[in-house]
Amino acid sequence: MDKIPFLDLAKISEMYAAELREAACRVIDSGRYLHGCETKQFELELAQSCGAEGAVAVSNGLDALRMILRAYIIMGELQPGDEVIVAANTYIASILAITDAGLKPVLVEPDSNTYNLDAEGVKKTVTGRTRAIMVVHLYGNPCWDKELKQTAMENNLLVVEDNAQAIGATASAGAISGDSRFTGGLGNAAAFSFYPTKNIGALGDAGAVTSSDFELLNTIRALSNYGSDKRYHNIYQGFNCRMDEMQAAMLRIKLKHLNEETTRRSRIAEIYNAEINHPDIIQPKVQANTKHVWHQYIVRCRERNRLQQHLAQAGIGTDIHYAVPPIVNPATKSCSADIPCP
Ligand SMILES: *Cc1c(COP(=O)(O)O)cnc(C)c1O
Repeated sequence: MDKIPFLDLAKISEMYAAELREAACRVIDSGRYLHGCETKQFELELAQSCGAEGAVAVSNGLDALRMILRAYIIMGELQPGDEVIVAANTYIASILAITDAGLKPVLVEPDSNTYNLDAEGVKKTVTGRTRAIMVVHLYGNPCWDKELKQTAMENNLLVVEDNAQAIGATASAGAISGDSRFTGGLGNAAAFSFYPTKNIGALGDAGAVTSSDFELLNTIRALSNYGSDKRYHNIYQGFNCRMDEMQAAMLRIKLKHLNEETTRRSRIAEIYNAEINHPDIIQPKVQANTKHVWHQYIVRCRERNRLQQHLAQAGIGTDIHYAVPPIVNPATKSCSADIPCP
């Protein structure tokens, strides 16, 4: 019997092999490996795909989140020590970006149906020091509805989207400003990751920020290039967090095929939805009028390890997302006072 691995990246590259090879040759022959037209075009195409006014291509998803938060501090929109609310079950990168910027992550239990932060969680947790929420569209499911949007607006909170897992998803409630319904265009700013395993993966590390706030985008563009707005003119103590031309060229091809990729994932999820039928397995739920892009198909099961073993024996690869949550990991376990440590 054929084995079904959890993920086969070579197979995905194979689907676009001719186009990827052609683009790689174009970059090699161009003699321009950074700050070129592939990156510029990718930024335009990405912003357009999610209804944001602009984008800055950066080195990876963590850096995208870090640059957003550090730029808000430079702009005076956030102060060191301000509280940022984030779901406790996110990938640790969301939290590391908050601590890196000198802000205070406040971890909240997610909604047990969507596995995402909800309005109730924010209302319970918001204090006079809360200035932002990080909405993580976990597993490809948009973390956004009318109540959450209203709660953010009423409390004057910046909304930073961690869109590492949900490129192409849409939510029922529209953007904070503008009319996008795509993740990446919903909040004040959004971070994307193009880590190879994401729905759109680079052939290495890459990430991006989208926003409709040009002051933010310009600050991030400078900050991620040594803090320099013009050559040799450094206005911030910056970083080197740029995306290179090769990754941008690869990603332009992947982005062009995003709809096919999402359709393929949705078809597979529909099969799982229809065919998995077991009283002990809790399947993912999708809210009305939202488009889930199935970065992961997450099930809950009391006998998780036995289920995983059973599937492994049948040649089916699975993974645990995430095997060690942030409240257990030594680096971040002190981040939440109100979630009991298991
Ligand atoms: C992958 C991921 C990141 C980090 O992206 P990198 O490109 O690996 O730095 C951040 N947040 C979430 C939710 C992710 O899944």
